[in-house]
Amino acid sequence: MIIGIDVDDDLPEIDQLQIKQARELADQVIAPLAREISRPPNYLRVIHEALAAAGLLRMPFPEKYGGTATSMLGRVRVMEELCRVDTVAGSVISGTELGAMPLILGGTESLKSNILPELAMGTRQAAFALTEHFAGTDVSAITTRAEPDGVTGWRITGNKHLITRASISDYFCVFAKTDWQAAGPRGISCFWVPANTKGITISSPLNKMAWEESPVCDIDLDHVIVEGKYLLGEVNKGYNIAFRTLNKVRLLIAASATGRAQCALELAVQYARRRQSGGKPIGLHQGIRWLIADMATAVEASRRLTYAAALAEDGKKPEAPMGASMAKAYATDTAMKVTTSAVQIFGGNGYLRENIVERLMRESKLGQIMEGTNEIHRDIVGRRLVKGDISLENPLWTPEMEASAWL
Ligand SMILES: Cc1cc2nc3c(=O)[nH]c(=O)nc-3n(C[C@H](O)[C@H](O)[C@H](O)COP(=O)(O)OP(=O)(O)OC[C@H]3O[C@@H](n4cnc5c(N)ncnc54)[C@H](O)[C@@H]3O)c2cc1C
Repeated sequence: MIIGIDVDDDLPEIDQLQIKQARELADQVIAPLAREISRPPNYLRVIHEALAAAGLLRMPFPEKYGGTATSMLGRVRVMEELCRVDTVAGSVISGTELGAMPLILGGTESLKSNILPELAMGTRQAAFALTEHFAGTDVSAITTRAEPDGVTGWRITGNKHLITRASISDYFCVFAKTDWQAAGPRGISCFWVPANTKGITISSPLNKMAWEESPVCDIDLDHVIVEGKYLLGEVNKGYNIAFRTLNKVRLLIAASATGRAQCALELAVQYARRRQSGGKPIGLHQGIRWLIADMATAVEASRRLTYAAALAEDGKKPEAPMGASMAKAYATDTAMKVTTSAVQIFGGNGYLRENIVERLMRESKLGQIMEGTNEIHRDIVGRRLVKGDISLENPLWTPEMEASAWL
């Protein structure tokens, strides 16, 4: 936190404890590993086990299934603390929530009590499979289909693209069309599919710009048969589950971006204090000082916007989805700008793999694309304001002026 207004004091005791645990784990265990430029192949597993042992994977789960039912603001704060030292550690937290939330929201009681405790402990993992080769932003274009099979079962056929953790997950949450006549994203249903079901093939991990430790794969589903109990929520209402899940995870992505931007800011300030040019530290040159001021201001603005949006989600406010879009787009754009500025402040050294700022810049790009691209989040915010779903009434704007505006 740059401006010392602490939101943690208002959180329940368990949330405060988890934030403290996250900070200690980040500083003492994760930071020494994360600093290594060549991370070992088992890096993700080590981090996953450390987070599971600290009980931090339990955060989004209800208490009756072994969770801690941590508030959205508490989850955001934990995410920020972890991503201040390592984005990948944060991705374990967001990946757990992304994979499990559809089951929490739409699973039957017996499915939830059988599976959620293992996901909360981190002994099993799940992946969220919505995107396809020709359907990303436009969810309604998905072609994976599910047709009734037998009395209550379903037969799923299609493929999914860019699915995080697909190769290490025990379950997939698969979105498939069940009504081809329905317009837009209506007619999509959500299925919980055990990864070892016959007919599933998972590709090798795809090569990416960053987040190398977190595998992203394609999934092929060839006449995969699942029992009726694996349908989450109601048939044709799967998009609602996706939407509610993504609104929460977007806030984690905003917090991850804020943590990463904070890290870049801290490293840039340290460097600006010690790197000399023209007989003085570069931080004493106005050009660099102003850059640092803008970086710090944007990081703090991202942080506060993300907290406000998380509080709206906790309070189930009608503006919560719009807040999540605002926070996600603003914080991830900020992280991109701030990490790029950090590389600039490091000069040529910033361009070298041996400097963490270089990795932070590459990692930041994904934030602007995943969990809905930032173009779409701007669209959501603009549309809700223009349609009047969220009121911004200003007494200076009279009905007469409104009428004349249409002339
Ligand atoms: C590393 C990584 C991990 C991922 N993990 C997962 C995962 O676990 N599960 C999952 O389901 N998906 C995952 N994705 C997919 C991700 O959610 C999509 O890439 C994202 O939603 C964008 O879809 P797209 O790539 O098809 O881009 P497109 O939809 O093809 O968009 C291309 C460009 O056009 C713009 N655009 C599209 N439509 C509009 C519009 N209406 N108005 C304005 N601009 C528009 C977009 O903003 C973008 O700039 C992952 C992606 C990556 C890169």
